[in-house]
Amino acid sequence: MALIAMRDVHKRHTLGGGTIAALAGVRLSIARNEYVAIVGSSGSGKSTLLNLIGCLDTPTSGTYLLDGVDVGALDGSRLARLRNETIGFVFQSFHLLPRMSARDNVAQPLVFRGTPRGDRRRRAAEALARVGLADRAQHLPMQLSGGQRQRVAIARALVTEPALVLADEPTGNLDSESTHRVMALLDGIHREGRTVLVVTHEAEIARRCERKVELLDGSIVDDARRRPA
Ligand code: ADP
Ligand code: MG
Repeated sequence: MALIAMRDVHKRHTLGGGTIAALAGVRLSIARNEYVAIVGSSGSGKSTLLNLIGCLDTPTSGTYLLDGVDVGALDGSRLARLRNETIGFVFQSFHLLPRMSARDNVAQPLVFRGTPRGDRRRRAAEALARVGLADRAQHLPMQLSGGQRQRVAIARALVTEPALVLADEPTGNLDSESTHRVMALLDGIHREGRTVLVVTHEAEIARRCERKVELLDGSIVDDARRRPA
């Protein structure tokens, strides 16, 4: 069974008095442990698609099955639980809480789960070690570089051991050295058996993936698989 199965998915955003068709009939199937780049020009619907896949938003019409579960049939709290159990999300602008230490940011998804405090601290420390930031646990986001902040965000995405990791232009705000580090981390996340989807403008990143899905005006216009280099 596919991990992600979308059929005839439409998404309209309301804007002013009218609506914008951000996705116009998407059919997409992604198996476990695929490594997929999502590409396309600005405004083509990449973020809308990733937000739907990540259960941050729901389709206007069409069906989306995540691991066999019909996401459209879930209420807000069940959707939030499914997201917490299954998905790690990495954003271009990190989305860290500014007044919390790196460790407490990483532990946030475990707070939602009700994990006891001692376990949270241990697991957050382990996740920070995985991204090479064991020695930055007590730092606030503003005391870290952009690349370090994104690695904290990746540790937060991993702390729940999600099957699916989604990253929306994760290197869009980073210099080239930090970009390489983040991409190497995503490669490793894929190698350890997770499904990874990355929205990106960068050809070098898309090349690392096994599959490239291209959007244009809310539709998939290309879906190419290849053997990894
Ligand atoms: P991409 O990530 O490829 O740049 P988006 O998915 O962000 O594209 O946007 C697709 C289209 O939907 C664009 O025309 C954009 O302006 C519009 N859009 C996206 N989000 C919203 C929103 N929250 N409200 C209104 N329009 C939106
Ligand atoms: Mg976008």
